[in-house]
Amino acid sequence: MYTCCNIKKFIKLLIIDMIVIMAAAFVFIISRTMKGSSASETDEPPVPLPVIMYHSVFGTEPSEYVITPEQLDSDLKWLSGHGFTAISAEELVQYVYGKGKLPEKPVLITFDDGHYNNLSVALPLFEKYDMRFIVSVVGRFTDSLAAADPHKSAYSYLTWKDISELIYSGRAEIGNHTYDMHSVSGKRNGCARINGESEEEYRKALSEDILTTQNSLRNACGYIPFVFAYPFGHISRESIPVLREMGFLVTLTCYERMNYITRDPDCLFGLDRYNRSGLLSTEEYMSKLLSEYK
Ligand SMILES: [Zn+2]
Repeated sequence: MYTCCNIKKFIKLLIIDMIVIMAAAFVFIISRTMKGSSASETDEPPVPLPVIMYHSVFGTEPSEYVITPEQLDSDLKWLSGHGFTAISAEELVQYVYGKGKLPEKPVLITFDDGHYNNLSVALPLFEKYDMRFIVSVVGRFTDSLAAADPHKSAYSYLTWKDISELIYSGRAEIGNHTYDMHSVSGKRNGCARINGESEEEYRKALSEDILTTQNSLRNACGYIPFVFAYPFGHISRESIPVLREMGFLVTLTCYERMNYITRDPDCLFGLDRYNRSGLLSTEEYMSKLLSEYK
């Protein structure tokens, strides 16, 4: 009886020991696995992302904000030949939020103001080189200027129908470049806060303006932008929560600096861009764009 009880006790203790050992081993393996994955995420190096800012593409007389079709062709050829892949804003967001991968040398290509030639001249070139681009439109330009003279590559702006065509091409995404804040000649500089304006007044003015373009794009094109481009790069700190609350995930500035992309969504607020002046050759511009590239 005594022996029998001891054997039972021994077996019971053995079983408990085995359970404890197995549990410890399980915890050890899980902790090693978790440690391994978090370490690899932490060790993931930031991805350098140059962002190009174009405006108008037309004619034979380039300027600070106009390049010729030949210059655009030359730029895209250069990027393609040097191993760069023009990614979409959606791919960029997916990566930052933990899904998918970025190509080895990503570049983001943007156009500001919504010139009609982004459709008539640029789109065929992006198709030729199998690249993606973002066009940030000013709602008022489309409402007031494009409708009056919709199809001159030299000076027209995109109509809502043209914008739909860009979207359906599958090459272009549309950004919001405000509705009526694309000016520095009035009281306000771009969409920056005016001196003396209360934070509440500023939030109201900014959100109402941006919402007008959002609503027009939604109603006319069935598209809701998540990219916002600050006119002239004039930024107020108070704009950031407004843009976040409105659902924007990417904002574009005009500071000429390299961006470094991580898995932190904050890195998408304030992507810096290099203006592509038509006064530079492709080689000169690319050298400037990639001056901080490592
Ligand atoms: Zn602009």
